[in-house]
Amino acid sequence: MTLQEIVRRLDQFGPGLTIYVQAPWQPQANAIVSCPRDDGGVPDEAVAAGCGYFLEVFLALGVLRQIPVVSGQAAGEVEQCARLIEYAEWLDSDDKPLSRAFPRQNYPGPMIVRCNECGKHFDIVVRREGPQEYPCSACGKELVFDFEAFVRKAIEQTKKMRRKRRGRR
Ligand SMILES: [Zn+2]
Repeated sequence: MTLQEIVRRLDQFGPGLTIYVQAPWQPQANAIVSCPRDDGGVPDEAVAAGCGYFLEVFLALGVLRQIPVVSGQAAGEVEQCARLIEYAEWLDSDDKPLSRAFPRQNYPGPMIVRCNECGKHFDIVVRREGPQEYPCSACGKELVFDFEAFVRKAIEQTKKMRRKRRGRR
């Protein structure tokens, strides 16, 4: 599979999965979607395919929902790939102003969150910054979700995973 093919059907993958892409990152690069190892490392099938850590599926979905999409158009897919690559590279850099990842003027923004109670993923619409409550669509439990805190945590997790990847060499 290529990164572009993954982007085309991104919403069919589980939000808990991770995208692995072969370097150098580009739309036609060899890519695979898989479940990270228990220790967060790159799974064997991704290593066998020559792919390294790229981005979590739920983060990629969040990024792509920030840009208008004409589905099924090749040009749109290439643009989506470019946006994801830009975001993944930005995550890998040291200077990370949050405003560049998720510009505030884009509120309200759709997002996928995971229920603490039943573990199901569900869609929410983030209307403003700061913590807010969202009822789980499966069990009805209120989930407190702070979009910016979430993004910060995701960035920290990504950094940790990248350090691990580098340490493995
Ligand atoms: Zn629930």
